[in-house]
Amino acid sequence: MSDAAHNKLMQWLGIEKQSKYVRDYFYKYNIRSSIYMSVVVIALEVWMILRMIRTVVTNHLTGDVFWGVVDKYFMNYFILLSAGILMLLYALRFTYGWQKSRWAALFVAALSLTVCVYEIHMLSTHTIRNVSALTYLNYIILFIAGAAMIVFSAMLISSRKDKKWQTLSVLYIFSFICINFGIIISVNSYAKGEQILTFLTMELFVVCLLTWRPVIGFLILTVSYVVFFEQIDTLVAVNSPDGLPGITESTQINGFTMWLSTLLFCISSYRKTRSQAMQDESLVKMNEHLSEISVTDELTGIHNMFYFREEAKKLLSYVTTDRERVVYLFLDIENFKSYNEQYGFHQGNDLLRRFAKALEKSFPGSIVARYSDDHFVVLTSNEGCEKTVAELSGGIRNNQGEVQLSLKCGAYRPADDEADPSLACDRARFACNAIKKHYDRSFCYYDKSLEDQFQLKQYIVNNIDTAIENGFIKVFYQPVVSTKNGKIVGLEALARWQDPDYGLLPPGAFIGVLEEYRQIYKLDRYIVEQVCRDYRDSADHGEPFAPVSINFSRLDFEMCDMIGHLNAQAEAYGVPREYLDVEITESALSDRADLLLEVIQSLRSAGYKVWLDDFGSGYSSLNVLKDYYFDVLKVDMKFLSGFGKNQKTTTIIQNIINLTQQLDMVSLTEGVETKEQYEFLRSIGCDRAQGYLFGKPMPLADLRERLHRHEIAVSEEFLNAGQTAQS
Ligand code: C2E
Ligand code: MG
Ligand code: MG
Repeated sequence: MSDAAHNKLMQWLGIEKQSKYVRDYFYKYNIRSSIYMSVVVIALEVWMILRMIRTVVTNHLTGDVFWGVVDKYFMNYFILLSAGILMLLYALRFTYGWQKSRWAALFVAALSLTVCVYEIHMLSTHTIRNVSALTYLNYIILFIAGAAMIVFSAMLISSRKDKKWQTLSVLYIFSFICINFGIIISVNSYAKGEQILTFLTMELFVVCLLTWRPVIGFLILTVSYVVFFEQIDTLVAVNSPDGLPGITESTQINGFTMWLSTLLFCISSYRKTRSQAMQDESLVKMNEHLSEISVTDELTGIHNMFYFREEAKKLLSYVTTDRERVVYLFLDIENFKSYNEQYGFHQGNDLLRRFAKALEKSFPGSIVARYSDDHFVVLTSNEGCEKTVAELSGGIRNNQGEVQLSLKCGAYRPADDEADPSLACDRARFACNAIKKHYDRSFCYYDKSLEDQFQLKQYIVNNIDTAIENGFIKVFYQPVVSTKNGKIVGLEALARWQDPDYGLLPPGAFIGVLEEYRQIYKLDRYIVEQVCRDYRDSADHGEPFAPVSINFSRLDFEMCDMIGHLNAQAEAYGVPREYLDVEITESALSDRADLLLEVIQSLRSAGYKVWLDDFGSGYSSLNVLKDYYFDVLKVDMKFLSGFGKNQKTTTIIQNIINLTQQLDMVSLTEGVETKEQYEFLRSIGCDRAQGYLFGKPMPLADLRERLHRHEIAVSEEFLNAGQTAQS
């Protein structure tokens, strides 16, 4: 038999393996159904008992006739009533946790005890020979059922918690008593020439209201039908001289049909419930999975920020939390990027996973989560956290291999009424960033001076749009001169934020922040437009203007179509493309190299010159030269800062200049502040120079004024921007 057919058969018979969820589902389903069933049984039995009492009283039954009624009816009613009540109590305890059942359980025990005592008496005074086998067997059954009932009543009283095996046992005993009751009463009825409806009702109760595995349903039905008809047969055989009708063929057929239909009902009810259970199970599993992934960080397996924020909010809202001792920590593995480059992502991820686990272990009972990349956050107690971070830092250093890794941690203690975890993490992060590149520091508390800087940062992020709209953003121009004649051959556009509250903000205060919050493209788009507008104005007024180099951030090309914007603005203001140069810093090339390679190609083929800014400031300067093509190379001003002090400086600059010549690039050195530096650059053949010696970044009006005063001159070819544009 194939596996599929085998599974089908097992399912059909109901002997397949069920998951715990499905088993529990059946259990719950049956216990709930047994509430209705037991209530009906209790009501029926109370009614039956009252009816029988009325018969006894109105007919003044005494002596043997009275004991005959007790024997045939009362004992069976009592035991079924007891079973009904006990079932109800167990079902209520399971479903609603209802425990006020002591008196009812005691009543069940007392009723069952009455049955037991009576049955012992009957068993001791009768033998199987002087009563029928059926009656004698019933004495035994009732005695055992009564005893079981006493035991389970006692268990119910002694324990308040639901125990599955107890409830299930009561369910089985209850079902058994129901069917036994059906058989006894119906056999009695048959003997009196009445219908056998009680048997049928009980069969329907047990097999249709409760859900059994098909094999068990089959066993219950078959055994009970066989026993029932066997007993009627015996009864007929014993009493036929009294004229009891035998079981006719049509009764047999009816009985068989009844058996078959209840069995089919039992199977279909099982299958329906089972498929419902399985559907529910897959939904529950899916929900569990969803809620699991919604709070877990996929890479490291520790919690994510969603969980962190929710739990932190909860923790801080507890009255019992000692807020003075609470601290947010923001941890950053410094130099992780280089580790990734050196050992690959696989090993990098591995390191993150190990660190995350170590972090969780080091802060037991605290809220720990991965913030992003190589950043983690912890909400913990202030005591000893610095020491724990130092230990973790040691662990990181042991793992570092050839790349120097270090752990930086910013700590923020929330104020009394503060409840926003995101803002708190931002502050801790701010403190952490404040000690980046400070090799002697690894732990920093957020304090007043950081608070001021933080406020400014928040202000910048929240106000960049208004600043642009209100014209607070200005373009300053810094001259770039040719070393041949000292005349201006270019202007670098540098952004300034003239704020009504904070005064003149240098780019250092806002560029990084805008990059961090991915808002830099707004500023750069605006600068492009301003530069084009200034060009137009100069051309229209016959003023000199030189090609302007504009600084771009890598994100500009990710967040918007910057090349399209450049084209559109150049077109709108009639700016020749050779008047717009693009500066890209070397550090921008370290990630998403593929994207920038394409961008640089597109820019150059669209007619813009692309400059490499801050050459020599990063880790992979020479690789950058190998992989990309630039028109101009700007030597980072750090090189010149050592001029005159460090002998090697001149050698290095000279070699860089030689390299640019060999690679067919224009060379430019920035940060030229002294005549000596300038002379030196001229002497080694550096093409252009930029620095305070020729002018600081200034507004266009100041630049024009200086030109008019002949303090500085523009190279002939750019004397009149308008003419150049037309030529
Ligand atoms: P950068 O592109 O390398 O710009 C040169 C920086 O060096 C400017 O600082 C300039 O004022 C300064 N500088 C020029 N000559 C000298 C000198 O002789 N000595 C000294 N000590 N410094 C000199 P600034 O204007 O503060 O700009 C800083 C950085 O901000 C720029 O570096 C650039 O990377 C970025 N930036 C400026 N404006 C923008 C912009 O509009 N968009 C983008 N994305 N970045 C910008
Ligand atoms: Mg620049
Ligand atoms: Mg630069």
